[in-house]
Amino acid sequence: MPFDLLLTGGRVIDPSQSLDAVGDVGVRGGRIAELGRNLDAAGCPDVRDVSGKYVCPGLIDLHGHWYEGNLYGVDPLICLNHGVTTAVDAGSTGYTNFPEFRRTVIDLCLTDVLAFVHISFMGLHAPYAEELMDLRYARPQETAAVIAKHRDRAVGVKLRTGAMTANHGLEALDRALAAANEAGVPLMVHVSRGAEEREILRRLRPGDILTHCFHGRGNQMIAETIVPEAHEARERGVFFDVGHGCGSFSWDTACRAFEQHFYPDTLSTDLHRYSVSEPLCITLPQVMSKMLCIGMSLVDVVLKTTAVPARVLGREHEIGTLAPGAQADLLVFDVESGQFPFTDTHLQVRDGSRRIVPRLVIKKGQAHVPGSAAVRLRDLYESDMDVFRAIG
Ligand SMILES: [Zn+2]
Repeated sequence: MPFDLLLTGGRVIDPSQSLDAVGDVGVRGGRIAELGRNLDAAGCPDVRDVSGKYVCPGLIDLHGHWYEGNLYGVDPLICLNHGVTTAVDAGSTGYTNFPEFRRTVIDLCLTDVLAFVHISFMGLHAPYAEELMDLRYARPQETAAVIAKHRDRAVGVKLRTGAMTANHGLEALDRALAAANEAGVPLMVHVSRGAEEREILRRLRPGDILTHCFHGRGNQMIAETIVPEAHEARERGVFFDVGHGCGSFSWDTACRAFEQHFYPDTLSTDLHRYSVSEPLCITLPQVMSKMLCIGMSLVDVVLKTTAVPARVLGREHEIGTLAPGAQADLLVFDVESGQFPFTDTHLQVRDGSRRIVPRLVIKKGQAHVPGSAAVRLRDLYESDMDVFRAIG
């Protein structure tokens, strides 16, 4: 049987199979059919020569915000412009609005959308009055029930700690852990200024995720040295995620961690209304390029945006891999050489010499040109300006 689509001659990087070699990828019925050299093009209606380019599994962004019913969300269709074929929502909704998020966004989007459900009943709503100033909003039983009912799309529990949990951060953590235990799913914990990082790290379970690991606003886990709790958590199987966003990535902090060989497990954007546009314009390829800039290898940046996030989600046979039978999600990209200024969320700039540029995205066997998805961002209000002023 001929392939529906055949990519020929690209350098195929698939860390899930320890593969890094020039070859072809054949797609049939929305699935990866075959990898190899000189695959048979006979009868294939769509043969694309991608020699000189890289081919990897479609990217998985473990942390973004895709529900426009609050002030943070962005249409997840934008992901196709960046090479992301699976977008994970990091707790934009809670148990009350997740079902509507599913019906109106998740079930309709061309890109796969999975979601962590926030322990706060309505998820994130507004940056000026955050979700857990009042602990009564944290509802373990109802959160676990909604996750259980939507297990195919609801992948875990989310909690943000720091200013948004006032002085009851650890109590909020207990409630989020109770929900995650009851539903049998991972917990993703956002840490920011004021979060009790060392105590949080002590309590996280194997498979849980700490996001914003390099936020640089008083990181307690990465001071002069990496605290023992961070190493112990990693040993136990806790994942460390970048979650770049508009306030959560510091060159200084990341470099200090890299100098001590403490690397993130997953690279993610924390894309939302405040990080998607000027001054930061975050994309996942840009976050990957920033990691190249401070010494991570190309294979590693692909690993941490494909196979590792797939494992975090427990979907490693379906996504984040080019193994035959997996969903046909692929990215074709170039690595451009030059001098590229990369800005962190503290507006510090470092020059990189390489930049990842998406050229073709394949989602379930269908080809999309990056940049061609028309996405409208919501209007900005006066209340949004405080967030932008805080960025600088
Ligand atoms: Zn976020």
